Amino acid sequence: MICDVCGKDGARQRHLTRSYGKGASLLIIEDVPVICCPHCGERYMTAQTLEQLECIKRSPGNLATIRSVPVAVFK
Ligand SMILES: [Zn+2]
Repeated sequence: MICDVCGKDGARQRHLTRSYGKGASLLIIEDVPVICCPHCGERYMTAQTLEQLECIKRSPGNLATIRSVPVAVFK
């Protein structure tokens, strides 16, 4: 895949976990497709992915499930 930032071939799509907000408003989204480029080190998401993320963030109640997970705070 061609990197949108530096134009070199070799960028790979990876599925990463992203988190937004904190405390009671923390929202975790798993398996977000992120394009990583080994040449320029850039990580970015496609417009379609960003749109979908916005959609999830707007109404997490419809799309998210509540899970009890350990959350650590770096001190
Ligand atoms: Zn690149």
